[in-house]
Amino acid sequence: MTLSSSDSLLVVGAGIMGAGIAQVAAQAGHTVHLFDLRPGAAEEARRQLGRSLDTLVAKGRIEAAAAEATLGRIHAIDALEQAASARLVIEAIVERLDAKRALFQQLEGLLAPEAILATNTSSISVTAIANGLQHPERLVGMHFFNPVPLMKLVEVVSGLGTAPAVAEAITGLARSWGKLPVAARSTPGFIVNRIARPYYAETLALLHEQAATPLVLDTALKAAGFRMGPCELMDLIGHDTNFSVTKSVYEANFFDKRYMPSLVQQELVDAGWLGRKSGRGFYAYPEGAGRLPVAVHDTPATAGVVTVHGRGPVADWLEAMAARALSSQGWGPAREPDSDWTGLAVDGARLVLTDGRTARAWARAHGVRDVAVFDRPVAGGVGQPPDAAAAAAPIALAWATHADCSAAWRTQAPAWLAALGFVPLPVADTPGLVVARTLAMLINEAADAVQQGVCTPEGADAAMKLGVNYPAGPFEWLAGWSVDGVAALIAQLDAVYRGERYRLSPWLAARTATLR
Ligand code: NAD
Repeated sequence: MTLSSSDSLLVVGAGIMGAGIAQVAAQAGHTVHLFDLRPGAAEEARRQLGRSLDTLVAKGRIEAAAAEATLGRIHAIDALEQAASARLVIEAIVERLDAKRALFQQLEGLLAPEAILATNTSSISVTAIANGLQHPERLVGMHFFNPVPLMKLVEVVSGLGTAPAVAEAITGLARSWGKLPVAARSTPGFIVNRIARPYYAETLALLHEQAATPLVLDTALKAAGFRMGPCELMDLIGHDTNFSVTKSVYEANFFDKRYMPSLVQQELVDAGWLGRKSGRGFYAYPEGAGRLPVAVHDTPATAGVVTVHGRGPVADWLEAMAARALSSQGWGPAREPDSDWTGLAVDGARLVLTDGRTARAWARAHGVRDVAVFDRPVAGGVGQPPDAAAAAAPIALAWATHADCSAAWRTQAPAWLAALGFVPLPVADTPGLVVARTLAMLINEAADAVQQGVCTPEGADAAMKLGVNYPAGPFEWLAGWSVDGVAALIAQLDAVYRGERYRLSPWLAARTATLR
């Protein structure tokens, strides 16, 4: 079963997604029938598409003849019967189960028995939509991302009864349209909307306990390679939309606390502070997030003895950066690779890469008073620090100390971070700080999705990079870190918060060397 550009298509729903899908299909050479329940909507969508194609011609992005041919292949129709010869229908109507079921049941009576039925639903179970069809095996999810002409990802979502040949035909078709199809099993949120939840949830949890401001959290995560910080992004998506996706994933998982929505976001929705579109969310618009003033660390980082502890890429990086910082004084750091922690001993004080423990917990466990913890440096987004030599610009990095730390180390810890090439961002003494905690939970969610057969690790990586522009995929971050490191960090979060949110994925648990 294959589909080619000579097969005609029916797109139902001429809204933002339907119009985009019609454009991409027509550009690939298909004859497209476009239908909308609202009279005139399909014709208006076609006219609007004509205007956008004209703009692309004016900018020299496409040839005038190609634009004309694309538009010529799109036919606005006012009755579904006019598209009875279509080999494939893609539905992009209102996000309601009853409406989608009724539409597909009607279409079954109109189209040829071998026609493929695809739904662009972003949150409804494909299995549930197929229930009631005479041939549920020919219904499949074809989940595009907005804006359809620009976003390469298509989640090809199989419900319980979807025939593998139908999913394969849609996969081949998406590829022939220049998209990157990723197979998903129909489960709440599919791949992207599920794995992305912790990106928002961890920041909302940190805001809830007043660990840092939205600007600090956004700055830290952008320094880790994310194009937008979570607060800016929620403001852009709209808190009503983002909150309702979170709620639907939470409810669809039978109120698993892993996905629990946040009171912080509920409050914004209650206030009508929906983000950019209402002029106010975490930030006020049009100004937006702004930038943090860069703190000037005029206190020199001083020490008698500096030792870099631990092994691995972060320790190597710290050693190179410390050597650079100390070279003007004519000496360099010592190295203790066999330590069970990573970081810097500066005389009697410690600057520790987060392992999930707070500075206070670490200080108690090691019997050292002057302890500061710092976040995982993930410059470039791939889960590892860059080469020391390549680290030209300082990287914003969260750090914290605890109430009993001396005043001297409170000043020296950020001075050392600055000397090591970071812009230190002070946050409250919370477990796993900001980036490490967020990445660990994204990895954990992706691991669960793989464990449950929703997608493959490669599928998860591709989906997160292409669907939400993450700088790397969760399994790429994991490769730059370690299963034991991630598992230990999540165990610490679980020990502090004692809920279900920080439950280690069995996929990770099965791969740890030290935990069970
Ligand atoms: P939209 O409101 O812009 O468009 C929906 C269109 O469907 C409207 O023009 C409406 O008149 C029409 N319609 C409603 N019921 C109909 C019916 N029974 N028969 C024919 N036409 C009908 O919505 P949208 O954002 O394009 O979303 C459409 C679908 O795509 C939804 O299922 C949504 O969840 C999904 N989706 C949306 C996005 C997004 O970012 N907007 C992304 C991926 C998937």
